[in-house]
Amino acid sequence: MTILEKLKKNAFLSLVVLAYVFMFIFKWQMGIESVKNSLYYIKEMLLIMPVIFVLTALLDLWVPKEKIIRYLGKEAGAKGTVLSFVIGSVSAGPIYAAFPMCVMLHKKGASIKNIVIILSSWAVIKIPMLLNEAKFLGFKFMAIRWVLTVGAVVVFSWITSRIIKDEDLPVESKVALGLSINEDACMGCGICAEEQPELFEMDGRKARVKVYNDENIDRERLNKTMELCPVESIKYVED
Ligand code: SF4
Repeated sequence: MTILEKLKKNAFLSLVVLAYVFMFIFKWQMGIESVKNSLYYIKEMLLIMPVIFVLTALLDLWVPKEKIIRYLGKEAGAKGTVLSFVIGSVSAGPIYAAFPMCVMLHKKGASIKNIVIILSSWAVIKIPMLLNEAKFLGFKFMAIRWVLTVGAVVVFSWITSRIIKDEDLPVESKVALGLSINEDACMGCGICAEEQPELFEMDGRKARVKVYNDENIDRERLNKTMELCPVESIKYVED
């Protein structure tokens, strides 16, 4: 992979680095402050995210897919909406902690609408936040803002679900068709490429799927390879 391709693949990170470089050139002091703030958030994330990943993995393991589809899926209706508000409102921690959990829920069948409700209520109507709001700004202020926010979240989640489809989400698209590898999870051990070189190859520190024909896939061997992958990043979804 060339440097240009790497920059393209990490376009957002490249932009952030570029912004820092400009800041240090033109506004040295602002650059220092930004680095301090970034380090603060990185430290916070390093403390919180491992716990979130463990909780998400446990939820993934313990909550069956059928339950997620029934209570948070497209057909869940009003009960799904209420449950999504409850999940988001009783949560704790910063909003970025919600993203891995929402990815897992979506993967198991939660609808886009309910994912938006969980994220939105997590961000703006968490119970500890409401209690503090009532304490500092008064109960009336908190109650009116809560009612209006809930209404707005319902409307915006519906609009989002009309615009964004399941296949638009990156994780869904990676597992939607045929054989795929979750590159973010792949740790580059090379087991898959050793086990089935006709299907997988290494590209630097990541594995990738070769061009293949569905009919030639040996499912038994593929299942074994999938089991051997230490981070379960290989998926095969039949059309
Ligand atoms: S076995 Fe899994 S982790 Fe190892 S290289 Fe293949 S996809 Fe990546």
